[in-house]
Amino acid sequence: MSTAVSPPKQRIIPLFAAVLVGFHLLLPICFFEPFFTWWFPAYLLIGNFIFGSIGINLAYHRILTHRSLETPKWLEKIFTLCGICSLETPPFKWVCVHRIHHQKSDIADDPHSPKENFYWGHMGWIYHDDPRMNSFMTYDKYIPDLLEDDWLRWIHKRNRWAWYYLGHIVLLLALAAGIGYLVGGVETMITATAQMFAWGIIARTVYVWHITWFVNSAAHRWGYQNYKTGDLSRNTWWVALLTNGEGWHNNHHAAPRSASHGHRWWEIDLTFTFIRCLELVGLAKNVVPIVVPKTKLETNDEPAPASTSA
Ligand SMILES: [Zn+2]
Ligand SMILES: [Zn+2]
Repeated sequence: MSTAVSPPKQRIIPLFAAVLVGFHLLLPICFFEPFFTWWFPAYLLIGNFIFGSIGINLAYHRILTHRSLETPKWLEKIFTLCGICSLETPPFKWVCVHRIHHQKSDIADDPHSPKENFYWGHMGWIYHDDPRMNSFMTYDKYIPDLLEDDWLRWIHKRNRWAWYYLGHIVLLLALAAGIGYLVGGVETMITATAQMFAWGIIARTVYVWHITWFVNSAAHRWGYQNYKTGDLSRNTWWVALLTNGEGWHNNHHAAPRSASHGHRWWEIDLTFTFIRCLELVGLAKNVVPIVVPKTKLETNDEPAPASTSA
């Protein structure tokens, strides 16, 4: 059913391209003294959980885009700030792009289909101008609910969100410097601050970027389908592992509003486990269950799990 998708030839946005290139060019310093640390997996895993899983998966994706659950407004703001600190564009644009993606998956007008060009689907689309995103008509059509949110509008105006990203850098560096000084004096303070800059900010930001982008690229190319969604979405186990659940992407395209992206017992979704924990302590409600339309239950690969029929 899909029509051909060719990456459109669009103008490059210099600022976006410079930020992407700049962060990648800084990566090599992470492997030299005083920036290198054998604790780097902890920086990436903990950083990904806070800024990637809570910020992007939970706040940007499952709360703001799909309304898969509700949390108290103060907590939604904190989670959204974590998403902003992943530097994946502000909430309005992220949600708008993603809602268009669901509506036009792998057909013309999909903002980031990897159908004909893996690189375009992965990251090429990010630093190319999509004229639709410069129009408030697009926002009116795709994110009217977000436009009604005073705080989100405030943070969008004059790119205030970017100051939050810069602010979190200052906070993390101050935290590392303080702990380093208390533990081992000035020398440890300098090393700890350098390591936080390299692994807690530069490498973590790039790491969360790429694993999020693999959902758009790899999980629309490799893996299996539980459901006949009519697009190229796939369940890609290694993307699910890296992103704490977002890689069960065919499941997600079949049931976009479901809070859980894992539909089989072994499709582990740690972001959903976190949602369950929030629910247990009374910080999440109206968690949307798995409901797959009957029309999507046929699949080319294997029968869909019976428990998910609507
Ligand atoms: Zn998709
Ligand atoms: Zn989605």
